[in-house]
Amino acid sequence: MAIQVGISACVLGERVRFDGGHKQNRFVVDELSNYVTFKPVCPEVGIGMTVPRPVIRLLQLPSGEERLVETKRQDIDHTDKMNAFTDKIVGQFDELCGYVVCAKSPTCGMERVKLHIANNNTVPGGTVGVYTKRLMAKMPWLPVEEDGRLNDPVLRENFVFRIFTLNDFYKSVRDNLSAKAFVEFHSRYKLVLMAHSPSAYKSLGQMVANIKDWDLDDFYYEYRQLFMDAVKERASRKNKTNVLMHLQGYFKRSLTKEQKAELAELIDSYRSGNQPILAPMALIKHYLREYPDPYLQIQTFIDPYPEELKLRYGL
Ligand code: SF4
Repeated sequence: MAIQVGISACVLGERVRFDGGHKQNRFVVDELSNYVTFKPVCPEVGIGMTVPRPVIRLLQLPSGEERLVETKRQDIDHTDKMNAFTDKIVGQFDELCGYVVCAKSPTCGMERVKLHIANNNTVPGGTVGVYTKRLMAKMPWLPVEEDGRLNDPVLRENFVFRIFTLNDFYKSVRDNLSAKAFVEFHSRYKLVLMAHSPSAYKSLGQMVANIKDWDLDDFYYEYRQLFMDAVKERASRKNKTNVLMHLQGYFKRSLTKEQKAELAELIDSYRSGNQPILAPMALIKHYLREYPDPYLQIQTFIDPYPEELKLRYGL
């Protein structure tokens, strides 16, 4: 089955905004859509609001509670309807491997959404849109990202990587629940974990080593959350350099002195920021074809997503 990703309908190009417009995102439509099936949702239309419709905003009550109200008629409050809609639709999201939400929206925004208080003031730092806040609380393992943030190469790569990873997890483990499936999945992600979170690399490794002591369902939920938290951490250049050096170690007997020096130079060039990771990875993949190694060949770090997405160009 194709990878399924939820999306704010306006980001996909549907004219569902309050003013009848959309917020289509080119990367989503032109590139990501070649690899995933989008499930568009406009929560405001979902609760019966019209297009066009009155502008709404988030209002913080003196009690601290956040309410979704109409800007010109703050006595018209859509919060309860929106929460009920969210609870119902999240029940249909079992297959989702990610979610792209629309920035700044009081319904869909993921961060720094304006939160109004009395006298036309706003709360510093803002808040999360009422729909997205509930979605993330109910599915804390799900990769969620805003349309605008996808223009940042580092955030884009991490988000897309997590989508492919969660899909891989579901195919490998959920649809085939067994200790063996977990061990195999975890083995393929060792280098990924080393790059994203050396501490999770250790703790998840210990968890998998002790899997026989767990109830398999409990293990599934715990591992999914901890694993998805770990890969959400940014893979630093330092950590990725360590992984490249680790990979380099596997070729120490096969390569000539000159080949080793060339690879070491490329890794160092990546470490100092003069080359993208693509450069040493291309050479490593070349050597891997020439000198196959069963452990390295299964490592997701080598080919985490389709090359055509060009996600490693800016890293
Ligand atoms: S931001 Fe969300 S609620 Fe607003 S138009 Fe887009 S999908 Fe609908």
